[in-house]
Amino acid sequence: MISVSDAQHEVLGSIIKVKKKKIPLLDSLGMVLAEDIISYDDIPIYDNSAMDGYAVRAGDVIGADYNYPVRLKLAEEDIPAGKVPSARLEPGCCMSIMTGAPIPEGCSGVVMKEHAEIENGSVLIFRECSEGENIRYRGEDIKSGDTVLKRGRRIYPADIGVMASIRIAEVLVVCPPTVGIISTGDELLETGDELVIGKVRDSNSYSLAAQVKESGASYIRYGIVKDEKRTLEEKISKALLECDILLISGGVSAGDYDYVKDVLADIEAKLIFWRVNQKPGKPLAFLKYKDKFIFGLPGNPVSVMVCFEMYVRPLMRKMMGFKKLFRDLVLAKAAHDFKHKIGRTDFVRVIIEKKNGEYSFKSTGMQGSGILTSMVKANAIAVFTEGVGDIDRGGMAEVHLLKEL
Ligand code: AMP
Ligand code: MG
Repeated sequence: MISVSDAQHEVLGSIIKVKKKKIPLLDSLGMVLAEDIISYDDIPIYDNSAMDGYAVRAGDVIGADYNYPVRLKLAEEDIPAGKVPSARLEPGCCMSIMTGAPIPEGCSGVVMKEHAEIENGSVLIFRECSEGENIRYRGEDIKSGDTVLKRGRRIYPADIGVMASIRIAEVLVVCPPTVGIISTGDELLETGDELVIGKVRDSNSYSLAAQVKESGASYIRYGIVKDEKRTLEEKISKALLECDILLISGGVSAGDYDYVKDVLADIEAKLIFWRVNQKPGKPLAFLKYKDKFIFGLPGNPVSVMVCFEMYVRPLMRKMMGFKKLFRDLVLAKAAHDFKHKIGRTDFVRVIIEKKNGEYSFKSTGMQGSGILTSMVKANAIAVFTEGVGDIDRGGMAEVHLLKEL
């Protein structure tokens, strides 16, 4: 049996071949950029108006205010967005201009429509306008040759917009792993089935698929497999052809029908560790097969989800090119006494709260590894490490934040 920190080291110390792929721009949201993005355009490409209003020469409207407006001749031509002005702006004149329209030659500022009024074919200007006011200059956002986005960053919606604006239709990203999911157990029913004595509906393949999806990768569910060596081997072999990570729930403990480890040994997957000094999830197994990773997850629904959080998700994030592998970790105060057996790491489902800048956590209640509603109630997982015993009210522990507070 190995410790949690050694197990995490083994998993996250794995050598990973990062896969890169060119994909359509919009598909890249949330992924890690694998190339620098350089602009070959100035953005904007022309000086343009930031407002609907009147293009003026700043010198013509010096001293203008509501008591002494300046009267300018309104040029015949107006400049809607998308049009190139055909004439220059003459002294003593103004031109009606819309947001985004090119600035005509001779214009040095734009007066907002709200600060002007048309009167008998000319325009009264009620405000002074400084040089450059309401003008967006060529290249003020992005200059040709600028590195707009650096490789290694996560792609957010604004990044997608900027790339679209500089003509990037496809982008090189770190390819998220494909995660296969197999549920094992003779007792398992499909979600649509009626419950009968001795049977449980398969929830693990659902919670795992959802966790994979939430982590930004894609999954393949291989359904339920009976505790039978031959069928297990068939399913596992098929899944290993199609996936980068394989998650097998159930059948990895010490029961008479727990065949997963035997089957994996038969196909010559390399066992890295089995059994971790933790609760829940002690029978966790981790194996490598060629360049693939296999997790034998204990079947209990809470163990499955907690092991995903503590081992699978960080590995997935490493494969996806993220530097931050774990959830946000905070130090929080116990809101009541907790029992904890020294010499083992416990992952405790808790409800965390932030009040006056301080975090405190309380238990979700029953902590059995079959109580899946404890994961529903929990917004965080507190880690009671091997070295500590009972945690009294007011005692501190590290807590992984699972949900928005
Ligand atoms: P095992 O690890 O196969 O001994 O299973 C441990 C416990 O988890 C048993 O009570 C199983 O019925 C339950 N279990 C196993 N697989 C699933 C599953 N896919 N969905 C829900 N419960 C499961
Ligand atoms: Mg089983």
